[in-house]
Amino acid sequence: MPLQFFNTYSREIEEFDPGDSATRPIKMYTCGPTVYSRAHIGNFRAYIFEDLLQRHLELRGYKVHRVMNITDVEDKTIRGAREAGVPLQKFTEQFKDAFFEDAHTLRIKRADDYPAATDQRYIDRMIEMISALISKGLAYQADDKSVYFRINKFPDYGKLAHFDLTQLQSTGRVKHDEYDKEHIGDFALWKAWDEADGDVKWDSPWGPGRPGWHIECSAMSMALLGDQIDIHCGGVDNIFPHHEAEIAQSEGVTGKKFVRYWLHCAHLLVDGQKMAKSLGNFYTVPDVLAKGYTGRELRYALLRVHYRVPLNFTWEGMNEARESLARIDDWLARLRQIAKNGNVQGPTTAFDDALDDDLNISAALGFLFESIRETNRAMDQNKPFWISKLELTSSFRMKWHSWQKSARTHGAKRIGNAATNCASGSLHSAGKCATRKTGQSSRAALDPRSTFCVHCSSNV
Ligand SMILES: [Zn+2]
Repeated sequence: MPLQFFNTYSREIEEFDPGDSATRPIKMYTCGPTVYSRAHIGNFRAYIFEDLLQRHLELRGYKVHRVMNITDVEDKTIRGAREAGVPLQKFTEQFKDAFFEDAHTLRIKRADDYPAATDQRYIDRMIEMISALISKGLAYQADDKSVYFRINKFPDYGKLAHFDLTQLQSTGRVKHDEYDKEHIGDFALWKAWDEADGDVKWDSPWGPGRPGWHIECSAMSMALLGDQIDIHCGGVDNIFPHHEAEIAQSEGVTGKKFVRYWLHCAHLLVDGQKMAKSLGNFYTVPDVLAKGYTGRELRYALLRVHYRVPLNFTWEGMNEARESLARIDDWLARLRQIAKNGNVQGPTTAFDDALDDDLNISAALGFLFESIRETNRAMDQNKPFWISKLELTSSFRMKWHSWQKSARTHGAKRIGNAATNCASGSLHSAGKCATRKTGQSSRAALDPRSTFCVHCSSNV
């Protein structure tokens, strides 16, 4: 099966066309955290899905250039800093640190770039883009001094969300602070400074103010990845208005298609309900660790359901994740023992092949556990056995030995240099994941520090 993804834009499964990425990395942009509080596990479900996507693309031989933005200026960060009585940067810094700590706990591979919206380079880029949109008649400054995108002048507005603009016009009352807009759906590109913003402001041709959230992503994506990108991801709640607005802004400026594949991760529910502080079911990564679970167990629990299916997080689910991982670990320990004496060969590629189908992790894990059942039964009966359809031969022992050796060497090197990308999965370059096919990417799914392979779920 060819590699294929469900594209939110077309609402169809599409074969992945790498374009000219034989000569360049795949350009991937993922909307990152808004650093006004610690990210919750629902946010991390989306980041883990993006991590799986990147690792699978790399397993299939592609290089990936991934950018994840940090939103450190918008209404919530400004309000938080004001209430805490500290400068914006000091306020957001603690949550940036927490984000990286949690991402590390969950073994999420680091992006190549983490641009922050308050970086002057990107503010300049946002101002440039807004100026271009005004000169094309796609944006205007209203009486309140803020600048808005004029959605009526962009015919494709609503195509991503499959949204009918006439519905928007009939949504009734205009909020009192938006009375200066021409159309209720027009969104802010530049927000004029007011007293509540304190000293959070930048100069612009339209007076002091700050960028709107949507333009931040368009500008940072364009600055780091160019006018056009291959894959853009986020949670389903980003589709409208955030991603719709990104398309309007970026394509409004360049006249070129902004994104080829839009992939969105479904919600995380907790005990069947939306996660909310008021319901007492709002969990961060440290909350889960405090109950005695590991980052690896939480990662598994958040990863094991297909990304387009809402995932119901429960404590029973966490216990199941623990049991599943223990089962995999026990199986691998037995295989290692057998490999010392016997002749075995790597297992089927069914796991990877399932992921080719729009990252079907549920099917992939199904194959894995079927394989575990079959081989455990054979081992119990002390019979020669097969891992799936492949006869076990002498190459397996060699693979295991080099894999384990590489894990130790590589892991030690990475741990010794904490500043580098300790979650980068290059162990397979020498180690050869047992599910990897000849000719596949050498940069693959193993986190050398955590010794957990996403593709074969092995613990080495
Ligand atoms: Zn974004």
